[in-house]
Amino acid sequence: MDTDIKTPELSIVIPLYNERDNLIPLEEQLETELAKLNLSYEIILIDDGSVDGSAHLIESLQKHNPNIRLIQFGHNHGQSAAFAAGFKTARGKIFVTLDADLQNSPADIHLLLEKMKDYDVVCGWRHKRNDPWIKKISSKIGNAVRNKLSDEDIADTGCSLKAFRRECFDHVKLFKGMHRFFPTLMKMEGFRVTQVKVNHYPRLHGVSKYNIRNRLFSSFKDLLAIRWMKNRQINYDIIKED
Ligand code: UDP
Ligand code: MG
Repeated sequence: MDTDIKTPELSIVIPLYNERDNLIPLEEQLETELAKLNLSYEIILIDDGSVDGSAHLIESLQKHNPNIRLIQFGHNHGQSAAFAAGFKTARGKIFVTLDADLQNSPADIHLLLEKMKDYDVVCGWRHKRNDPWIKKISSKIGNAVRNKLSDEDIADTGCSLKAFRRECFDHVKLFKGMHRFFPTLMKMEGFRVTQVKVNHYPRLHGVSKYNIRNRLFSSFKDLLAIRWMKNRQINYDIIKED
C-alpha cells in the first residue's frame, strides 16, 4: 500500500449539512470498504454550516481515524460550495464524491475505480432509486430535459457517487449548481466520461435538503447556461501553423 499521506491514492470528498446521525455509520462503512481496496486515502468531510453538532462529532471521529479531515463552513453555502472547498484541499490522485446520508454506499466505490482504468470521470447511476415518488418523478423529468437540452446521455447526473481524476478540476470553472453538470463540463474539457450502475438506499436519519422548488427550477437556469456554453464552445481545425 502507498503510505504517502501527502498524496494519497484517493480523496473521498463528502459534503454534509445536518447529518449528525449518519456520520458514525458512514465512517464505519468507509473504513471497512476503503481497507478492502488497500489504497491510501483521506476522507474530507465538508460541514456546510450544520447546526446539529455534526462538526463536533467529526472532531471526535478524527481522534481515532487520522485520515479524516474536516472543513467547517460558518454558514450553509450549498453543496457546490462544499464540493469546491473539498476539491481545493484534496491531495489524492483520484477524487471520489458521495453523500453523507448513506443513500450512496461506500461499498460501491470499487465499481467506480474499476472503470477509472479506462476513463477520467465515472458517474454513478442510481438505477433503482429509493426516494419518495415525487422525487423519483421530478428527477426523471429533470434528467430527460437536461439530456435533451444539453445533448447529453448521462442517466443520473444528480447521483453524488462519482470518481474524477484530479486533473479534471484543473480547468473547470466551479460555480453554484455546477455539481449537477460535472459530466458535461468534463467532456467539454476533453475528458473521457462514463457511467456505472450503483445502489441507492433510503435515507435512514435526518431529512433531505432538496425539494422541487429549490432543485428543479434553479437547475433549469443552470442548464440553459450549460447549453449556451456548450453551443458556444470554440472549435477550429488548423491545417498549417508556422
Ligand atoms: N448537502 C450539503 N449542503 C446543502 C444541501 C445538502 O452539504 O446545502 C449535503 C447533504 O448533507 C447530503 C448531500 O448534500 O450529504 C445530498 O443532500 P440530500 O441527501 O439532502 O439530497 P437528496 O438525496 O435528498 O437528493
Ligand atoms: Mg440523500
